[in-house]
Amino acid sequence: MYILFLFVLAFGLLIGSFLNVVIHRVPINKSVVFPKSRCPKCQSAIKWYYNVPVLGYLFLGGKCADCKNKIPWRYPLVELLTGIFALLLFPTSLSIHDLANYAYLFSVACIFLCHFVIDIEHHLLPDKINLYFLFITLPYVMLNFQMHYWLIGGLVGIGIPYLVTYIFYKLKGQIGLGGGDIKLYGILGLLLGAEGVLHNLSVSCMLGAIGGLLLLKVRGLGKDTPFAFGPYIIITASVQIFTPNLWKIVNPMTWF
Ligand SMILES: [Zn+2]
Repeated sequence: MYILFLFVLAFGLLIGSFLNVVIHRVPINKSVVFPKSRCPKCQSAIKWYYNVPVLGYLFLGGKCADCKNKIPWRYPLVELLTGIFALLLFPTSLSIHDLANYAYLFSVACIFLCHFVIDIEHHLLPDKINLYFLFITLPYVMLNFQMHYWLIGGLVGIGIPYLVTYIFYKLKGQIGLGGGDIKLYGILGLLLGAEGVLHNLSVSCMLGAIGGLLLLKVRGLGKDTPFAFGPYIIITASVQIFTPNLWKIVNPMTWF
């Protein structure tokens, strides 16, 4: 049991290390396979023994071995979070069904983590990551749900946010939701169904409005400053997908 625990943690940390590459390279349209990891500042290749997740960072004291520039703490944090997700989602029984479910849910957690960080840094939810999300979600919903559930969910998930954004644009000339947000809602609709995605839409918009106001106050941002909306969708969807029992309690759509 102890060995399995360490193995799953190590697996999660390694995947997290790969997610750092995804987060760094996908928004700037670079390959995630080649070349090997480099220091973002001085471009020197990182030696394999410093590439060990979290430990490499600690050993180097958070600095590049060559140029001594600070390595952002985001790197070990993403690794650590991925390791924790790998452990928390790990099933209690090792049946084929549970392991397949685990593979899907852990992949979703990884996608959410990448989207979350990239959106905050670049105000962007990359098509490549949404496409990958769609690619793993379609077979999952086809196997687990009836067709009308995911089909209507997907249509509602992409249709309603698109319509709202379109009307908002016609009335005010401002773009509300970005294309990446709308696509993400569409894929979530497949998984959460029509009701689930409408609840997500309502709750993430509320959270986004609160978050936007706080940013306005704290950072003194102007009204027209673009801000990342994806994190609010992702926080809401995470509660819905990973802790459905908690969602039943905290979902404000069921309070009235
Ligand atoms: Zn360097």
